[in-house]
Amino acid sequence: MTSCGRGYAPMARYRAAAAEISAATAAFRGTWADMRHVGSGAAGRRNGGWLWAACTWLGWAMRITALAGGVGGARFLRGLRHHLDRRDDGPHDVTVIGNTGDDITLFGLRVCPDLDTILYTLGGGVHDGQGWGRADESHRVQEELLAYGATPDWFALGDLDLATHIVRSQWLGQGMSLSEVTALLAQRWGLPEQRVRLLPMTDTPVETHVVLAEEEPRAVHFQEWWVRMQAAAPVERFVVAGMDRAVAAPGVLDALREADVVLLPPSNPVVSIGIILGVPGVRDALRGTAAPVVGVSPLIGGRPVRGHADACLTAIGVEPTSAAVAGLYADFLDAWLVDPTDADVAVQRVRVEAHSEPLLMSSVEAAGAIAGAALGLAESIRTSR
Ligand code: GDP
Ligand code: CA
Repeated sequence: MTSCGRGYAPMARYRAAAAEISAATAAFRGTWADMRHVGSGAAGRRNGGWLWAACTWLGWAMRITALAGGVGGARFLRGLRHHLDRRDDGPHDVTVIGNTGDDITLFGLRVCPDLDTILYTLGGGVHDGQGWGRADESHRVQEELLAYGATPDWFALGDLDLATHIVRSQWLGQGMSLSEVTALLAQRWGLPEQRVRLLPMTDTPVETHVVLAEEEPRAVHFQEWWVRMQAAAPVERFVVAGMDRAVAAPGVLDALREADVVLLPPSNPVVSIGIILGVPGVRDALRGTAAPVVGVSPLIGGRPVRGHADACLTAIGVEPTSAAVAGLYADFLDAWLVDPTDADVAVQRVRVEAHSEPLLMSSVEAAGAIAGAALGLAESIRTSR
């Protein structure tokens, strides 16, 4: 992924605003310190599975780090938390590295769709049928914007959801980083109490854009392609504006290097996980971590459960199969969970350990079982090392 490198006026303003340090930042730092993990050292973890057992015995937290996009990632994480809460070998700390490539500035407000989906899902405020946005939502503000003829009109902005974007934009404008803002939003949704830390992949403003395969190539924001065009317009390539300047957000690389387990939920492999992997240092940290890296396929029977992951894969020249998705992670993946419908092909073609497990997250319990299977695989890898 490369940047299209053009000047981006809203981003420039956002970056300038982020230079100021506000009083709210100082207040926030105290709570961040309280979230620090306790655990074993990296050298110890390389010595094998016994250390994991020792952590449990000593009451140290097992550190799980997950990369995540929006709906698929959030549902998996809610299942993971559900599973962990029912184990008797706790505590477990979960660090989530969220995709910010979907971020967009609308009506002067910074919107982070994937981070918000994770906050609302883990915090119990999500519209469950939809998988994103708020439950019991209304759209009065958007109706008023439409009455003014304001554009764009294709991106749903509920009234409750708008409060998140307003407060985020205010805090960013006061000079807080996106990590700091996200930690404050996470408090409102009870993530620290759940021992979940949500980190944006980077504090640098980045945006995934789609270069359309038209006679006159032009780029549109990823959201316009995904939401307005329903991912139907042919793609020449994805570019991530701002990625050339991006640095991993504080804690991101350490969370991968110092994890006991790294999980890849069934998020979109191209525009969610693929974007996070493009943040400088993330892929190297995954290659170098002593933790087992276990992924869950987002495809069942060669099709995405929802969304347009197949169109994204085709656009980057990768066939839409579970085995091919594992191939995108081949340099750091230790094990891959596939649905039984994909087991034959995957077991033959994936060079890492492939295990089959029903992968439909039809309920929190079903997602919990999938998360439990992924952790079980990680534990068996650690024990055998
Ligand atoms: P988005 O940012 O909202 O598109 O969400 P993600 O990138 O986190 O996840 C999107 C992916 O989740 C899609 O490719 C879906 O196929 C996958 N997904 C959604 N629900 C399920 C499910 O129940 N099981 C599996 N295995 N994948 C799912
Ligand atoms: Ca997304």
